[in-house]
Amino acid sequence: MGLMLAVLAAVAAIAAGVWRYGFVQALDGLARRGEADLTLAADRLTGQLQRYRDLAVLIAVHPGLDGADPDAVLLHAADRTSVLNIMLVGAQGQIIAAAHAAPARANAALEQSEYLARAFDGALGSGHGIDPGQGIRAFYIAAPRFAASGRVIGALVVAVNLEALEGEWRGDRPAVFFTDDDGRVFISNRSEILFWQREGDRLRPPQGPIPPFEHWQTGAHEIWRLDWGPYLPRSGLHLAQDLPKISMRAEALIDVAPARRLAGLQAAVVALVGLAVAAMLFWALERRRVLAMANATLESRVAERTTELSGAIAALRREVAERQEAEASLKQAQADLVQAGKLSALGQMSAGISHELNQPLMAISQFAENGALLIERGKSEAAAGNLARIAELAGRMGRIIRNLRAFARQENEPVRRIDVVAVVETALEMTEARMAKDGIDVDWQAPSGPVWAMGGEVRLGQVLVNLMSNAADAMAGREECRLLVRVDAAAERPVILIRDNGPGISAPEKIFDPFYSTKEVGASEGMGLGLSISYGLVQSFGGAIRGHNAPEGGAEFSVELEPWQGEVAA
Ligand code: ADP
Repeated sequence: MGLMLAVLAAVAAIAAGVWRYGFVQALDGLARRGEADLTLAADRLTGQLQRYRDLAVLIAVHPGLDGADPDAVLLHAADRTSVLNIMLVGAQGQIIAAAHAAPARANAALEQSEYLARAFDGALGSGHGIDPGQGIRAFYIAAPRFAASGRVIGALVVAVNLEALEGEWRGDRPAVFFTDDDGRVFISNRSEILFWQREGDRLRPPQGPIPPFEHWQTGAHEIWRLDWGPYLPRSGLHLAQDLPKISMRAEALIDVAPARRLAGLQAAVVALVGLAVAAMLFWALERRRVLAMANATLESRVAERTTELSGAIAALRREVAERQEAEASLKQAQADLVQAGKLSALGQMSAGISHELNQPLMAISQFAENGALLIERGKSEAAAGNLARIAELAGRMGRIIRNLRAFARQENEPVRRIDVVAVVETALEMTEARMAKDGIDVDWQAPSGPVWAMGGEVRLGQVLVNLMSNAADAMAGREECRLLVRVDAAAERPVILIRDNGPGISAPEKIFDPFYSTKEVGASEGMGLGLSISYGLVQSFGGAIRGHNAPEGGAEFSVELEPWQGEVAA
């Protein structure tokens, strides 16, 4: 707002300066033209008066003046030249002859006049006044008349009708007036100021109230402000020239309104341009302000958003760290569970294992006793057969113990190539005793060669032992128990299939949940962890474990594994 006022003030100041400069320039032009006009008017007047001067000199020496009827000579001359009067004045100043009879007071005025005195001195005299005869403004020219001796014997006076002269240029532009030595306006092309009297700087009418008047200087020019009627300018440039030849001063008043208009026009143009520039400036400033405001809002929003985001990022980082921690402890818990699960499985199997180991042990002792008897009897061949059986049984026991050791081991090895068929056979071997005890008929058809997949031998074995034990658990107490085990190598991913003819799964969607179990707690049975651990193990080698009820009854579990991508061993 303040800035706007300042700019408006500046524009106004510049426009005022331009106005003033333009006005002075225009006044210079007006003054030049006015001077020329004034000179023209003055020259015209002096030129016309000069003609009458010549006339006076010529008639002064007219021989007819000394003749019988000088009046007629003078009248003739006056009629020809349309002067007011021509008078022949004698040595004592008395009118001897005249074109038109002059009253007595005319003679009295003549006698006191300066111009006559000058004529009597032998020079050409001139003056002006109201003609006493006709009451008209007149210009008098007095030419001396000389005797043969050179003495002045009289004078010839020509009274010129100034009003007739004026009539030719009345109303011309500019307003011109001539003031005499007394400061009286005696000749003018504006009749309303005739006889006005100079008083100091101003002119005043001869009588009545003094109209308003001011005057001042603009640059080198003098300006008059007045109210002297419709034919005189309200504001005029005042010019003056002295005319010593006729003892007058020529003055002119030139209307300055055109100069005002021109200066006003220039100032208006400058003001308009200034205002346009100011408007553009304001527009640009306003735009910048709005932009800056928008920018600031945007920046503050960005800053707000940034702090929010950094807060969110920090929270996320914390969460990630917490998750990582949780994951680590979960892994640890899982590893612990796997081990616990294995140990629990071992516990479950311990009865079977001891039976399994007991049987060959008792057979070995039987074979050993028999072998000793056979050697005593010298049947060494039969004894050798016994020894071979013993060796075979010992080998079998060794295998069982190796399997157990491997099962109990905590496997940390990375996933690698394994033969699925070998793992299935190991698992079958480990559960063999249990199956035999429960009278379960195991239907296993091994594929012709090894089936390679990605996995961990021990972990996959644990999964399979678990699935087989579950099947055995489910079928417990059945008349005819059948366990079907297959390895499908034809599919894109190798699949191990374990199917029983038990009652089937009561809640297939829950079986992989930890601690979900339908078995009685306590007995030989587990804690509902077997399948959930198996799930994790199979996933850890990129496989998938599924369980559902087979259409012909019983549960069917499938373990799908990642195929081995490398070159297949022979
Ligand atoms: P647990 O054997 O200790 O109960 P699992 O996770 O191994 O724990 O098994 C969870 C549950 O899944 C079992 O309690 C049982 O209800 C069901 N289940 C598992 N295998 C079979 C199967 N072959 N037939 C029927 N139900 C099964």
